[in-house]
Amino acid sequence: MTQGGMRTDAGSVLDAPWAAEVDDVFAALGATGAGLTSGAAAAELARVGPNRLPTPPRAPLWRRVLSHFQDVLIYILLASAGLKAILGDWIDFAIILAVAVINAAIGFIQEGRAERALQGISEMLSVHAHVRRDGEWTTVDAEDLVPGDLVRVRSGDRVPADARLVDTVNLRVDESALTGESLPAAKHAGTVAADAGVGDRHDMLHSGTLVAAGTGEAVVVATGPATEIGRISTLISTVDALETPLTRTLAAFGKRLALLIVALAIVMVVIGKLVHDFTIPELVSAAIGFAVAAVPEGLPALVTITLALGVQQMARRQAITRKLTAVETLGSVTTICSDKTGTLTRNEMTARSVRTRGGHYAVSGIGYGIDGDVTVDAAPASLADHPGLRALVETMSLCNDARVVEADGAWRLVGEPTEGALHVLGVKAGFDPAGWRRAAVVPFESATKYMATLDVGSDGSRAVHVKGAPDRLLARSSSQLGPTGTTEPLDTAFWNDEIDRLGAQGLRVLAAARTAPTAGRDSLEASDLDTGLEFIGLVGIVDPPRPEAVEAIAACHTAGIRVKMITGDHAGTAVAIAREMGIVRGDDVRVLTGEQLEAMGVEELHDLAPVVDVYARTSPEHKIRIVSALQSRGEVVAMTGDGVNDAPALTQAEVGVAMGIKGTDATKEAAEVVLADDNFATIERAVEEGRRIYDNLRKSILFLLPTNGAQSLVILVAVLFGLALPLEPVQVLWVNMVTGVTLSLALANEGAEFDVMARPPRDPRAPILGAAALRRIALVSVLIGGATLGVFYAERAAGYDLASAQTTAVTMLALGQLAYLFNCRFLDRSSVTLDVLRGNRVVWWSTIALVLLQLVFVYAPFMHTWFGSAAIGAREWGITLALAVVIFLVVEAAKAIARRARRAG
Ligand code: ATP
Repeated sequence: MTQGGMRTDAGSVLDAPWAAEVDDVFAALGATGAGLTSGAAAAELARVGPNRLPTPPRAPLWRRVLSHFQDVLIYILLASAGLKAILGDWIDFAIILAVAVINAAIGFIQEGRAERALQGISEMLSVHAHVRRDGEWTTVDAEDLVPGDLVRVRSGDRVPADARLVDTVNLRVDESALTGESLPAAKHAGTVAADAGVGDRHDMLHSGTLVAAGTGEAVVVATGPATEIGRISTLISTVDALETPLTRTLAAFGKRLALLIVALAIVMVVIGKLVHDFTIPELVSAAIGFAVAAVPEGLPALVTITLALGVQQMARRQAITRKLTAVETLGSVTTICSDKTGTLTRNEMTARSVRTRGGHYAVSGIGYGIDGDVTVDAAPASLADHPGLRALVETMSLCNDARVVEADGAWRLVGEPTEGALHVLGVKAGFDPAGWRRAAVVPFESATKYMATLDVGSDGSRAVHVKGAPDRLLARSSSQLGPTGTTEPLDTAFWNDEIDRLGAQGLRVLAAARTAPTAGRDSLEASDLDTGLEFIGLVGIVDPPRPEAVEAIAACHTAGIRVKMITGDHAGTAVAIAREMGIVRGDDVRVLTGEQLEAMGVEELHDLAPVVDVYARTSPEHKIRIVSALQSRGEVVAMTGDGVNDAPALTQAEVGVAMGIKGTDATKEAAEVVLADDNFATIERAVEEGRRIYDNLRKSILFLLPTNGAQSLVILVAVLFGLALPLEPVQVLWVNMVTGVTLSLALANEGAEFDVMARPPRDPRAPILGAAALRRIALVSVLIGGATLGVFYAERAAGYDLASAQTTAVTMLALGQLAYLFNCRFLDRSSVTLDVLRGNRVVWWSTIALVLLQLVFVYAPFMHTWFGSAAIGAREWGITLALAVVIFLVVEAAKAIARRARRAG
């Protein structure tokens, strides 16, 4: 690194690196075009700190704790405590306050758990940077970048730090995050004036901006807080809020319910006073008890924790959720649109056959291993005797950035799989690239579907080599290389037949072409390749399907989800692979190509999209049209993507799915879900998880609401009929609290029901609780509430004192809820099965905890003082247990009737 005296000089260069020559910037940073050594980088990292923007300070602990007191229930509790104080009932006052604190504490702990779960997820999505260290290009965590590092960016990358460009190829960067300018800015390495504004610094890359097209190399000049974005500190936060439409709906529901409860409490007090002549303290007690009983205070926290735990479990299964909402949406997905290469297939490419005008060649060998031969009619084909083959492998090998390295006896690919296959083909054919130098390149983009290089041979010969999608190259060719190595007119029909033939075998087809460069020019533009190419030949590449993806597609079909393949490959290849993978069946398969799609009217596409499952020759911009067409027919769409141009389609789809390995930062940021393993099977699993989590939410809500229903019913009935109160407010608080900390969390851990992937997708418009669920809630409220009232008045009639009758009532409530928990483990399926005892250990831990707490309530003397409870005998336990079993069985009978009604209807 630079030392003492040089600093001032270096400082002035680094104050405005955009105005300095590249070499001066390197010198000022003590770096070179070969990048830093890892030692120097580590030392610099220790000096300047990680390349990270300061995170916004968290709200202080006291404020976060206090925020949990901003809740309707807590207000009711605090008001109740106040009333108790006025009435001089200090024990109740203390208990109610204690419960308020415990409640807030539970909320605080739950929120912490949920936040930690989500934090862990966002850490999985850390940004990486492509950097040159110790002379080799590697990938490091973007946080480890330091000034002086040489970085490489390509379309779709988020720029990891502020950097001075050294070299660019068609580089365009979307700097809207920084400058507000929505059109991508063209970038080049030439200097600009020292006083140029951020938006005019064409030779700089700025941290946080997005590479829209092309590639570039740049030397890092500022990291972390020293970057432009760090200075204006607009933070791009990736941590998702704990809020989703569902939590908002439920929160709103909670508020409306609270109002209703207050209104009912007032009615109750008025009737109690006017009709039954209760005393004011009695009515206050009843009103407090009723309010506390009726407010479903655990609901929002329950939903949040269920979602957050679900997200965590999904991440363990390789599906990283960026937005909590996706968990809800995943369960209603009706169509999954998937890329082919790497998602449905393994993306391990091997060239199998070569077609030139001079012959058909077979290629042996597997994977990226270089052992194998190129043969014609089973005899080795030498390059000297086959000019077409020679021209083809020369093009495919030189217009190529991949290589293979041997490690531990296996060949490993460095670079893109398609290019790897073509590189290995060159090695097998005996092509030696030594002596060739690349003078210029037009990089591959999925929009153009080709790549070209200007190469100079050792003898000074110059040639432009082009490889890419066959149709793109055919359209640009005017001649072809003949069997003897001479140029002849292009026979498009011949090549189209050959392309179809290779495609029908499920092979990915790439074409090679070449042209003479403009004399005296050492640069290459896309426009140089628009016409006049000489077509050389074709290569057919296998890319085996992922076996687990084949199974996942079958599972999707059973689950009522349609799978569509969207690929840049040739239609023949697409159909062959789609058939192999079980996406389509039979002979009459409809395919839509990108071209047909473009020519089509909106209505026609809207009609066709739902029934066509294979899309070939598409470009990223076609995806958005497909998504819109499907959505216009009411489909809920999950769409995968990896390239920068896929981002709009991912945003448009209900569930955008980005590839974690292959995907660009732009796609990941647009996506709801990121697949850590790029695998289609993971999408299917995510859908399954989504359905499971939604089920669990319904189960939890279905469990929780009757709890409140039963308790409030007990008090309401007692007051309306002028009877003694079966539950004191503090006792209601007790039941609420113990079931809140034990039972209500058990269902968030419930496993998937055996038929989750055997039912059709959920209608996204259906409310989380339908009429059937509301009927169930009413029934269970009446059952548990009725049983509680029943045992209380029966005990009183049998001569037991108030305390023990109330204790029996509390026990009835607790056991009734426990029994009902087992009903709720399966939404529709019968719980009268041994399975109800298996599969969720948390249910048992909650059961044990509930029973222990209840024993404390009944038998601990201090509880008798605080909660007015009393010891009860075997008779009471027996009755309450028996009634709990009856409740369980009646609910099961109701479930069975509902099942039958649905099947009949
Ligand atoms: P999917 O099948 O999921 O759409 P894809 O790999 O086909 O993925 P792209 O990578 O955009 O999508 O490739 C589109 C087409 O471009 C390929 O079918 C192939 O013909 C051509 N192609 C792919 N990679 C290269 C490359 N490195 N150089 C030149 N042409 C390429």
